[in-house]
Amino acid sequence: MKLLLLLAGLLPLLAPAQSRLDYQVHYSPQLAAEGLRVQVQARTTRPADSTYFHFANEVWGEKDLLRCLTGLTGAEPGYRFRVVPDSSRIVVYHPRGRDVRFSYRVKQDAAQYTKAQFSRPYVADTYFHVLGESLFAVPEALTKTAVEDPEMRATVRWVGFPPDFRLHNTFAAGATEQTFRGKLWTEFYRSLYVGGDYRLQQFSLQNRTVYLAQRGQWTEYTDARVLEAVRQALTAQRAFWQDAGPASYTVFLSPTVTTADTSWHGQSMKGSSLHQGFVLQSTNNPYNNWDLLRYILNHEMLHQWIGGQIGAAHEELNYWFTEGFTDYYAFKNRLRSGDLTMEQWVQSFNEDVLQRLYRNAERNQPNYLIKDNYWKSSSFGKLPYRRGAVFALWLDHQILRRSGYTRSLDDMMRELLHLCRQPGQKYTDELFLTLAQRYLREDISYEYQKYMLDGADLPLRPEDLVEGLTVDNSGKVPVLKLNGPAAPLRERYLNENPAARPMARQ
Ligand SMILES: [Zn+2]
Repeated sequence: MKLLLLLAGLLPLLAPAQSRLDYQVHYSPQLAAEGLRVQVQARTTRPADSTYFHFANEVWGEKDLLRCLTGLTGAEPGYRFRVVPDSSRIVVYHPRGRDVRFSYRVKQDAAQYTKAQFSRPYVADTYFHVLGESLFAVPEALTKTAVEDPEMRATVRWVGFPPDFRLHNTFAAGATEQTFRGKLWTEFYRSLYVGGDYRLQQFSLQNRTVYLAQRGQWTEYTDARVLEAVRQALTAQRAFWQDAGPASYTVFLSPTVTTADTSWHGQSMKGSSLHQGFVLQSTNNPYNNWDLLRYILNHEMLHQWIGGQIGAAHEELNYWFTEGFTDYYAFKNRLRSGDLTMEQWVQSFNEDVLQRLYRNAERNQPNYLIKDNYWKSSSFGKLPYRRGAVFALWLDHQILRRSGYTRSLDDMMRELLHLCRQPGQKYTDELFLTLAQRYLREDISYEYQKYMLDGADLPLRPEDLVEGLTVDNSGKVPVLKLNGPAAPLRERYLNENPAARPMARQ
């Protein structure tokens, strides 16, 4: 899941005035009742008697988040506050000057959240789990600047937390004082802060530290098993992208609703990518599914690149790519890492992509309606994942076949990553189509328009697939099938031939 609303400025780009921001987050033994008390100190660019602060009222489909903010208090007499939820705004009236100092409390707005409430702040006596965007109010001078993702500086101090109340976040392990310098939306706000009864494990991959922070006693998932799955997936994915990753990276795993009985036959799990990591949250009951965890682990991890470094210019309109191709590579890289056999890959793609796509009531809806309905309807929400994954399969196999198995979509994805790392370069469908044309020596604008934008079913034909894989179209849903021994098919499909020559540029 990747969502970030970026403010498009019509004004010419201006260097944002650097605000100085200092936060103190205070512990209380009654965290559930009192919340995390956050003290803010901001220095504005010019003297004023009122300052607007941003505190998101909606994050990733969770609405009314300002209900979780209480206890607004000025640091001295003369402060008044007005909260404007529709504008995600706290108006702070203060004594005239440049220094604004006040505090607020972040707490749960219900004693117990439902299994569908993932992205609200969790604050209990024994732990907390709060997104950076739901913890730190920032002056609107930062959020309303014409710069898309402004640079900022902030310090965060953690005050009064007992030594056994573990503190961890996407930036640091166990730190009681942190200095942040970076981008507001994609780094400072795309973060997660946890504390309390979390268990922290770590390993090193090419001298970069990888953390696994989890809490709860899981049915099916032992700490060691999850850690090994993280290591397996991350090793394969970093090798695939030829990217050693950030100096520090964290995978968070937290239970939402835990039930020991069999009253609810299901598992509700969600993953969200973060700056330098990702977060998984799930119900915890006897129906926990190890395969589901590994799938989501692989999917969310891939967003470090697809949707992350390959940043989409048009969010939901590009989800067929950022979610669909992520899903496709979740399956392909699980095959690559040894997590799935070739037979299991075929079975998973049939069951989890093709069958679910063809069962989706909204399957032939046009792409622009996905933008409107993504957060409102789970059928629409799932559509770009499966529609895009089928397109990725089709394209990958076309490139493999037409290049005589010397190139694949893998090469195109790495080239796309390279291009999107250039300053100011975002992913656009136009860039994608230009690259695809180079790899295929054919323009696929027609197929893109018909199958991704208009929503027609993409016909998979046996002659579109690599040798050794075929498709049975005799039923309502296409069914992929092995058409020969698995080992040579796997080798052909993964195309890990280092001697393959680069394609001639046209
Ligand atoms: Zn995703």
